Amino acid sequence: MSYSWGNLYQAREQRYSLSAREAGLPDVAESSLLAVGQRRSYGDVGVNDGGAVFDSTTLSRFISFDSKQGILRCEAGVTLWEVLQLTVPKGWFLPVTPGTSFVTVGGALANDVHGKNHHGAGSFGCFVRCFELRRSDGEVLECSRLQNADYFAASIGGCGLTGLVTWVEFSLKKIVNPSLEVESIAYSCYADFLSLSAESEQSHEYNVSWIDCLAGGADTGRGVFFRANHIETEFDLDESLARSARSVPAFVGKGFPLVNQLSLMMFNRLYRFQNRNRSSHIEPFGKYFYPLDSLLNWNRIYGRRGFYQFQCVVPVENSLVISEILQEISRSGQGSFLSVLKTMGSVLSPGMISFPRPGVTLALDFPNRQSKTTALLGKLESMVVEANGAIYPAKDAVMSGATFRHCYPRYDEFSKLIDPKFSSGFWRRVSAS
Ligand SMILES: Cc1cc2nc3c(=O)[nH]c(=O)nc-3n(C[C@H](O)[C@H](O)[C@H](O)COP(=O)(O)OP(=O)(O)OC[C@H]3O[C@@H](n4cnc5c(N)ncnc54)[C@H](O)[C@@H]3O)c2cc1C
Repeated sequence: MSYSWGNLYQAREQRYSLSAREAGLPDVAESSLLAVGQRRSYGDVGVNDGGAVFDSTTLSRFISFDSKQGILRCEAGVTLWEVLQLTVPKGWFLPVTPGTSFVTVGGALANDVHGKNHHGAGSFGCFVRCFELRRSDGEVLECSRLQNADYFAASIGGCGLTGLVTWVEFSLKKIVNPSLEVESIAYSCYADFLSLSAESEQSHEYNVSWIDCLAGGADTGRGVFFRANHIETEFDLDESLARSARSVPAFVGKGFPLVNQLSLMMFNRLYRFQNRNRSSHIEPFGKYFYPLDSLLNWNRIYGRRGFYQFQCVVPVENSLVISEILQEISRSGQGSFLSVLKTMGSVLSPGMISFPRPGVTLALDFPNRQSKTTALLGKLESMVVEANGAIYPAKDAVMSGATFRHCYPRYDEFSKLIDPKFSSGFWRRVSAS
């Protein structure tokens, strides 16, 4: 059975474990191939109905770590959490991290993930020095900005369509202490979010905001802004790298009560801060960057039908559309209680079809209510296109081919570099419609 983080698919695919990076791609009967990592992508970028998927999580070895320069080479199936366990004790941190550490380095490259420091650092791809790409015809390409530069650019953010990445070399960020001094500031409207972002981009390395999606009218866009910097004092290693997680029980088909429980937890956290208006405290990095990692399989809370996630970015000059999108969601009564809002900066990704770009980005979940939800997502998609924005493939399950080509104008150039045997549900959808 096929699987994605949004639990939206009942697709059949043949799964193969990769034995060793040196062995390359196994010879398989299926004509459509795709490499996958931890399957933390919400939609169908990592789904290959009727084809083969190569599980790259078995490519889990570190190859080299230069702890003076902060340069790491590891196999593509190593997770970001494993990277942190190796590098934090030596004073190095991930240059960019998404909102979960259960992600492989190969998956981070293929979706060119972004984090709370995009405004200053850019995306993960900006830190990739080189990687190995194995094609289905047996070709092995080492790719960098200078060597096989077209495949380098097509694979970063290329949704796994250019072949199997077996190892990646990337640079890290020097830190004194992985923990963060976090400031939480309640704000009451979208305009306040924009001015807080502009101010915090000058003073803080990491910025993110949670907004209350149920609020309508004058309260549209109210939320809490979290800004943070690493602290600069000695730290307790054991405490910093400790991680405990609880699991959500297997499917019982009664997702909504659990959704409400989780929302309540987040709600309480949100309003505790809001009531205080402004507060400052030290947080372990795991709590700040990965708040949902303590609840394993939290995606099950949406029940058997699963859920959609929507993430868009729109240019700052058109960013008032975010306020209109929020109103549309509030009117529909379908969105999750909390959504994430942040600004993205102007450091350009080397990726040919990368999502991260300057602007304001909004992300939230929608429980799957079938046509009611897809109709709403279609409406939001048109608003994003109209505002000259883009939708994130890693989170998408519905965008049309026309929208994809609009958002990713280097589509034709990219299409020529795809491995002819590689495909995915996502690619078949956006290349057909
Ligand atoms: C709670 C949560 C928070 C998140 N927060 C963020 C965020 O803040 N920012 C952000 O950018 N994303 C975020 N994401 C999305 C996530 O970071 C990406 O979807 C990431 O790519 C998932 O990596 P994975 O290892 O699970 O790869 P998968 O989901 O298994 O695959 C992702 C893509 O990578 C390709 N791929 C995987 N391994 C290889 C390989 N070895 N060779 C070639 N291609 C490969 C696959 O074909 C697929 O197209 C979040 C996801 C979750 C669940």
